[in-house]
Amino acid sequence: MDLFEYQGKQYFARFGIPVSPGDVAETPDEVVAVASRLGYPVVVKAQVQVGGRGKAGGVKLAADEGEARAHGEAIIGMDIKGHTVHRVWVEHASDIAKEYYASFTLDRGAKAHLAMVSSRGGVEIEQVAAEDPTAIARLHVDPYIGFSEAQARQLVEEADLDPEARAGAAEVLVKLYRCFVEGDADLVEVNPLILTPHGQVHALDAKVTLDDSAAFRHPEWEEFAGVTELDERERLAKSYGLQYVGLDGFVGIIANGAGLAMSTCDVVNQVGGSPANFLDIGGGASAEVMARALEVISSDASVRAIFVNIFGGITRGEEVANGIVTALGRVDIKVPMVIRLDGTNAEEGRKILRSVESETVITAPTMMGAARKAVELAGGK
Ligand code: GDP
Ligand code: MN
Repeated sequence: MDLFEYQGKQYFARFGIPVSPGDVAETPDEVVAVASRLGYPVVVKAQVQVGGRGKAGGVKLAADEGEARAHGEAIIGMDIKGHTVHRVWVEHASDIAKEYYASFTLDRGAKAHLAMVSSRGGVEIEQVAAEDPTAIARLHVDPYIGFSEAQARQLVEEADLDPEARAGAAEVLVKLYRCFVEGDADLVEVNPLILTPHGQVHALDAKVTLDDSAAFRHPEWEEFAGVTELDERERLAKSYGLQYVGLDGFVGIIANGAGLAMSTCDVVNQVGGSPANFLDIGGGASAEVMARALEVISSDASVRAIFVNIFGGITRGEEVANGIVTALGRVDIKVPMVIRLDGTNAEEGRKILRSVESETVITAPTMMGAARKAVELAGGK
């Protein structure tokens, strides 16, 4: 689950990471009310889950009530890269001497946490990485050992932060690591982490991705879930309890098992298509689950073909096939569909599927062949 900046900052604050005082507002009147409570100058910031808000005009400083209202009017309702701004975060403006970058994320390849610090903050870190990779100090953190103050000091030195910022930045890093681990995040990113002219170091932006699998031990996450930005497809899938991730392509994917679902996305890419989603329907593949999966995929206007890729393991082929047949009777599918069924009792399953086969419901014996067919029926790229 991705948090909005203001939620990320609230999360940071729990771990003692310094952030500016502020509040959310949904109307220009509220912006002014919050601003006068905080005292001017303030900064009015669009709350959308996309980077580069500053460049897009979604982050504005206001010196007085007139400016606060004007920025509220301009930013609320604004579209930033396809995201509508429903609320803004208004915080007391900071004086900036320097902008840095700090983050912790998972490096799955290295089976370790990865800390990154740079003295070139405020711009997109991907850009820094492309222009000057040496400007980013990196450190792998063994999750069993943790992250020490000594490592924090080493990192800020290596990143060449200004000497007067180092102690403060190292302290923030230690707290940020606690937020990352105890807070069960997959990513915590501060860009910019600033140094003020008075020598204070604090977080001016917050990007936090929480690990949904840890939600069971964080009842307090409920408040985040209510306002988190899901697209319509994801909302529907979530209400159905499906493991679904919306993507940008045009081939709708249904598979059983996360590994197979990912491989299915890969294979679709490999044959020149592009997946519209990741969807793992789990082990069962019952008619109920299949119908829900088809409903979610059909609600996606960019889907031009559906690829159902099921490998029968404990669930036998004929059960899966019966599930698909029943589901097809319940959901109105408007695009072609290719089914690849393999594994336990695949032959029996395929026999059952013959009853629904048509020009637009096709079965294919191999994963690669099915992927090709799906992309072809989608009309190619
Ligand atoms: P992003 O563009 O979506 O990453 O939004 P940020 O929260 O990082 O803000 C973008 C930029 O706005 C920052 O890099 C700062 O330069 C500027 N900015 C944000 N808050 C303040 C503030 O309190 N004071 C000043 N002077 N500039 C700010
Ligand atoms: Mn930022």
